[in-house]
Amino acid sequence: MALTRQQKLDAQQAFAEGKACQDCGGLHPRACPRVKRQVWLRSGPGDGQRTEVEYWGSYDQTGIVWPEDAYDPSDDDDTEDANGR
Ligand SMILES: [Zn+2]
Repeated sequence: MALTRQQKLDAQQAFAEGKACQDCGGLHPRACPRVKRQVWLRSGPGDGQRTEVEYWGSYDQTGIVWPEDAYDPSDDDDTEDANGR
């Protein structure tokens, strides 16, 4: 998906901070659309850990920001030369 320059900067920072989704590798505001089914431990020493996960073969990627989007060098809304020349 096409991002504005500011969105790219925000996304780059999020990726740099390791905030990308562990399941699909992208950034998205809601629950991961790739996850079909997951089971969390509700009690015991592993409380809060996920014990099972199942993925959809294909899924709706609308709204997901991928690293290639965040680091896309082309700027639609900025005509300034990125090299500073
Ligand atoms: Zn995800």
